[in-house]
Amino acid sequence: MNITENILEIKENINRALIRSGRKDKVTLIAVSKTVPEERILEAYNAGHRTFGENRVQEWQKKSKLLPADCEWHLIGRLQTNKVKYLDESVALIHSLDRFSLLERLNEQGEKKQIVWNTLVQVNVAEDQAKAGLAVEEVKDFLETARDYPFVQISGLMTIGRLDASPQETRGFFRKLREIRDELIKQQVIAEDKMFHLSMGMSQDYEIAIEEGATLVRIGSSIFGKRMD
Ligand SMILES: *Cc1c(COP(=O)(O)O)cnc(C)c1O
Repeated sequence: MNITENILEIKENINRALIRSGRKDKVTLIAVSKTVPEERILEAYNAGHRTFGENRVQEWQKKSKLLPADCEWHLIGRLQTNKVKYLDESVALIHSLDRFSLLERLNEQGEKKQIVWNTLVQVNVAEDQAKAGLAVEEVKDFLETARDYPFVQISGLMTIGRLDASPQETRGFFRKLREIRDELIKQQVIAEDKMFHLSMGMSQDYEIAIEEGATLVRIGSSIFGKRMD
């Protein structure tokens, strides 16, 4: 597996999907480096890539110290409240804000450290029992409540498809997330002029996600090869 070539190929696919869907905006590729050793991440770095996604706080801490300081780190996995204290300003975006207790803890630690966390609200559009995320009907209330938490900035929504879903079903999930965003704008829960991200799409379904409006795609195995997990 040649990491540099994989990244190039994925970027081409991303551009093609953007053109296909008539989009003029852009998509950020997050290289999901969970379980990938530092040397292999460095290959991506040396190919010019800077944006990486990790799902475990301890693993991110270790890697962020070993890798160059200009890497941009995204936390994409379920975040335990007792791990929030280990986070710092080098976390560019937390994709998995999925409950009030986490909102509270982030706000509390943000105040303590004087950091405003940049976050996405995770929505369980696929209603997958095995996955975290708010139910669709909880999102509006959550966003309204979050206004009272000044150390937590919500910059968009995130979802995970379902492994066993057909491409049609997957498209439906991603479309739903976009519709939730559009509805939130219509109801003025979020401002239209602000960039409001949609983090959706992984190795197996990122092209569909882009066709449905993804602005962030999280891709691991298509870049680094199959994981052992
Ligand atoms: C592991 C992971 C990914 C990447 O998955 P691939 O199928 O390897 O591309 C994306 N998002 C989340 C939340 C993940 O945990």
